[in-house]
Amino acid sequence: MDVFSRNIIIAIDGPAGSGKSSAARLLAQKLGCLYLDTGALYRAVGWKAMQDGMDLQDAAALKTLCAGLDLSVRPDGNGMKVFVDGRDVSGEIRTPEVSRAAAAVAAVPVVRQRLLRIQREVGEKAGGQGGVVVEGRDIGTVVFPDAPVKFFLEASPEVRVERRHAELRQQGLAADLSATRREIDTRDLKDANREIAPLKPAGDAIRIDSTALTLDGVVSEMMAVIERKRSGNAD
Ligand code: C5P
Repeated sequence: MDVFSRNIIIAIDGPAGSGKSSAARLLAQKLGCLYLDTGALYRAVGWKAMQDGMDLQDAAALKTLCAGLDLSVRPDGNGMKVFVDGRDVSGEIRTPEVSRAAAAVAAVPVVRQRLLRIQREVGEKAGGQGGVVVEGRDIGTVVFPDAPVKFFLEASPEVRVERRHAELRQQGLAADLSATRREIDTRDLKDANREIAPLKPAGDAIRIDSTALTLDGVVSEMMAVIERKRSGNAD
């Protein structure tokens, strides 16, 4: 299979702090693909529900929100920007409060159905643009189960907490280490145990433990897998 001869979809899943966003962005850059951060979509819905003062478990209210949802994404350098009702919310959706809201609304089926459509539309559009690297929790299992290359990134709990903490600090968001640990623990538990589209590796995903790897190290491993598939030597 020549993965570069067609419009490839590369799926990257993993828990918070596993390094999947940085790896996905760099991989997309190296491959000249689009990059889709699906967590940003759940964050945008969580953000909007918070803005509207909504009960985040109220499925009926979330259904109404989704029906009128004006949500779009746009490539931005090596990253991606997210717009709700035409407003750029890319920065605002990064707070710990929005992380919690995202995980809450992500457990509601109507939200997942609405975002599934958006993700697949981006996947289809990427067809004309050399493909897309998509990262999230259910990309290899639900959103793009036929993706020809799937990765599942992992890292030790300590490293994941440190990475998330550093990310928050970099964004100018104060957070203490124990609060970050609580946030990650709660979110991982919720993501892995929800009934719909729980976080889990696809059967055909290649697992990479990034605990002791640099970002370049992770992406080199990914590129090696893609090259192997490209030359037809993959399993
Ligand atoms: O990746 P990120 O940490 O930004 O994701 C925020 C939340 O969105 C996750 O904790 C999860 O609850 C939800 N999510 C999801 N499915 C995805 C991506 C994110 O349920 N594909």
